[in-house]
Amino acid sequence: MLPETSKPASDSFHVMAKAIGPICNLDCKYCFYLEKEQFYLENEKWKMSDERLEVFVRDYIAAQPGPEVTFAFQGGEPTLLGVDYFRKVVAFQKKYAQGKTIANAFRTNGTLLDDAWGAFFAENNFLVGLSIDGPEDLHNANRVDKKGRDSYKEVMRGLNILRKHEVEFNTLTCVNSVTVQHPVRIYKFLKSIGSKYIQFIPIVEREVDTAAAKLGLDFAAPPDLETPPADGEAPRMSAHAVPAQAYGDFLCKIFDNWVRRDVGKIYVQLFDVALSKWLGVKGGLCYFSETCGRALAMEHDGDL
Ligand code: SF4
Repeated sequence: MLPETSKPASDSFHVMAKAIGPICNLDCKYCFYLEKEQFYLENEKWKMSDERLEVFVRDYIAAQPGPEVTFAFQGGEPTLLGVDYFRKVVAFQKKYAQGKTIANAFRTNGTLLDDAWGAFFAENNFLVGLSIDGPEDLHNANRVDKKGRDSYKEVMRGLNILRKHEVEFNTLTCVNSVTVQHPVRIYKFLKSIGSKYIQFIPIVEREVDTAAAKLGLDFAAPPDLETPPADGEAPRMSAHAVPAQAYGDFLCKIFDNWVRRDVGKIYVQLFDVALSKWLGVKGGLCYFSETCGRALAMEHDGDL
């Protein structure tokens, strides 16, 4: 029997579900998330159980005060769970919708997409967020698999699946110390592959510091890290991290390009958020809000 249902919250909130935890088929050089595997037991089952999934779907819908509920699935790589897992998700959503409109967002590295996924996304109106860092050389600079092999061709194959099935998609592009040097090239590339909704995500990754070292975890320390920063010392950034000034220059160059040709045609998330902040609209991206706290992430075991 499922536990009692949650009561509606006074305001809406957002939960990103990581139904497979930090398990992924890729091994992107800047990924901060794969190492979270070490927080769990050796024989961990990397999958949200059916019962937990049902409770989550039921309570997430019930707890939203408004008529629309948006689910977001991310990983690791959620396609590793298989299409049938997400058929269950949709079945639970239908079971507990109670007249509310349900939307689904699904973030993937794209490498495992096939026709079954394409048909499923199209049939159920999923919005797919495809992670791609730019043209082949820039993408492959960091986004590699467990054997260090490039992933660009597989991602483009996945993109073609989305196009073939007319799945709505946007792109998520990590800006790191390599790609930050090529703003216009990346922007033009994203337009050329049909992305109309573009998100940039700055890679801001610290080197192992004393706090992390004290946890005793086997983090892969970068080779140049001989002495971790001492307590109170500002953290040093990893070699993949994007320098602040360079990230600003990157966005300015793209803005100059966008504002001349693409206003109303291409949506760059950061420009939209900046505009809405300028107009005094509340909400939007949590790190532009006065206080964070309405955007949560849930692990496969239910940890929030
Ligand atoms: S695809 Fe995402 S989760 Fe997987 S290794 Fe790359 S950044 Fe990490």
